[in-house]
Amino acid sequence: MKILAATFNPHKIQELKALFPAHEILSPSELGIAQLDIEEDGDSYFANAMIKAKVLWEIARIPTLADDSGLSVKALGGAPGIHSARYGSNGGGQGLSQKEKNERLLGEMRGVENRECAFFCCLVLVTGDDSFVSVQETCPGLLAEKAQGEGGFGYDPLVYLPELDATVAQLPPELKNRVSHRGKAARLLDGILSNIFGG
Ligand code: IMP
Repeated sequence: MKILAATFNPHKIQELKALFPAHEILSPSELGIAQLDIEEDGDSYFANAMIKAKVLWEIARIPTLADDSGLSVKALGGAPGIHSARYGSNGGGQGLSQKEKNERLLGEMRGVENRECAFFCCLVLVTGDDSFVSVQETCPGLLAEKAQGEGGFGYDPLVYLPELDATVAQLPPELKNRVSHRGKAARLLDGILSNIFGG
């Protein structure tokens, strides 16, 4: 089915297109929808994904898939978590570049022994005014001491996966999709969609 991706993040759109090969994932721009600044003031990944999905559903009225994701670091009480995209901006100004966010997070974690962290991804697919399907998954890892790798996006260079002996940014896209929070969530959702709609 045609599914509108409720995101303006080109990296997420690229990953979602690869993760749902049985469906036609469309970016907002492919439907002529201009960039919107959606206020994500929910208190969970689910709440923020639902906000984004509903805004785009109201505009396009075709099945609409939102992804809300982030990186939680145990020693920082789960931060940056749902604030991952705005980390370090204190709510105002232009915010930090991703490189600056990564440097800031490494700085906050300098000398901290417990490096446990996890990516989270909540997917919400709105299929009607009062109907939706949602899943959430994680990708646990360890916060690296320094950024490594050029692939992926966001905090990928900082998250080391011991079982693969690599940061997420050092993985080829197919391998990232196999182990990532977004990959796991997408496969769960895809299975649910096959059960509901067949195919
Ligand atoms: P959102 O658009 O509010 O969901 O922002 C999610 C933020 O979390 C992104 O801007 C990234 O900084 C981070 N993030 C989410 N997924 C990933 C990922 O797969 N790799 C690295 N960083 C991610």
